[in-house]
Amino acid sequence: MLTKTKIYLSSPHMGGMEQRFVEDAFNTNWIAPLGPNVNGFEKDISDYLGGKQEVAVLSSGTASIHMALVLLGVEKGDEVLCQSFTFSASANPIMYQGATPVFIDSENDTWNISPKLLEIAIKDRIEKYKKPKAIIAVHLYGMPYKVNEINAIAKKYDIPVIEDSAEAFGSTFINKPCGTFGEYGILSFNGNKIITTSGGGALVTKTIDEKNRAVHLSTQAREDAPHYEHSKVGYNYRMSNVVAGIGRGQMLVLDDRVAARRNNYQFYKNNLESFIDIEFLDEPDGFFSNRWLTCIKTSSFELREKIRTTLLEQDIESRPLWKPMHMQPVFKDFLHFTNGTSEDLFEKGLCLPSGSNLTKDNLINIVAIIKKALINI
Ligand SMILES: *Cc1c(COP(=O)(O)O)cnc(C)c1O
Repeated sequence: MLTKTKIYLSSPHMGGMEQRFVEDAFNTNWIAPLGPNVNGFEKDISDYLGGKQEVAVLSSGTASIHMALVLLGVEKGDEVLCQSFTFSASANPIMYQGATPVFIDSENDTWNISPKLLEIAIKDRIEKYKKPKAIIAVHLYGMPYKVNEINAIAKKYDIPVIEDSAEAFGSTFINKPCGTFGEYGILSFNGNKIITTSGGGALVTKTIDEKNRAVHLSTQAREDAPHYEHSKVGYNYRMSNVVAGIGRGQMLVLDDRVAARRNNYQFYKNNLESFIDIEFLDEPDGFFSNRWLTCIKTSSFELREKIRTTLLEQDIESRPLWKPMHMQPVFKDFLHFTNGTSEDLFEKGLCLPSGSNLTKDNLINIVAIIKKALINI
């Protein structure tokens, strides 16, 4: 049993209908990685994204990024430009392909990939090596990256974008859903994300042909024959029909979850913005964030730690912002184009409890504790 008082950063929040879909899978014995829930979940996601995209549900967001790289033909000797300020799952699949990541720092308006540094990096790599094979841009914490600028650069140099929307399901940019802006879009349904299937992800493609290729590769690349025939290396990445049932239930409450998380953000902001030692990340015009996690930037590492440890003493989980990839031991030797933005955010930033199941009392309590930490400095 979880203790009564513990408050988590972002915990699963079921809507009520999930078990019905899972039960259907059991009742009809569709337990395999195909069946009505898989098709239904894919259709629900596609509809949510505007109906023009094809969707392949897979075992994780990480697997979906990996599939996007495989579909783009990324291999050893290729470079892939990747937002440095992100979770390691954005970059790990580059390594699975034996390719080389090149990390790009963020700008201050959205905390996402800097268009300026991206173009500098592209020019540098073309001049000194060769054209990068792909760009991985991330809508971090649900805030869309500068889609127009990034897409314009991608178009100018003809480099495909993999849109890591793992944290941004429900976010939009100029009224268009995140997940639809890249050559490929990625979603995650991991346990801490805005909706969850306990574990899972989706690859969003523009054509049915690309979706079919992804599904084929994700089911061991089995050829059409009575025996097991393979002419390509395959993967076991398909989502199961049981798990997809949870996803269908979660799709019914996605908009509620977005509203609840945005309310969390607004509550924190209303109650804490008067403190000059705390900054919030506002949405630029046209940007709509699902506010997956509410993040604050404090004025110093010491203050950030003071707030974090004071919350922890009350069994409340908060967490420093993502440690940039170019600072990670595993990636530190790779080329990076940086400007100090993500290092500063890592030093001073904190993610506050942001679950859609937080109560008003929880929020009031958390804010009171943060205020106490702020006043006692
Ligand atoms: C969660 C996450 C992923 C990976 O998704 P999984 O489903 O956990 O594999 C990728 N990128 C970002 C930015 C994420 O937050």
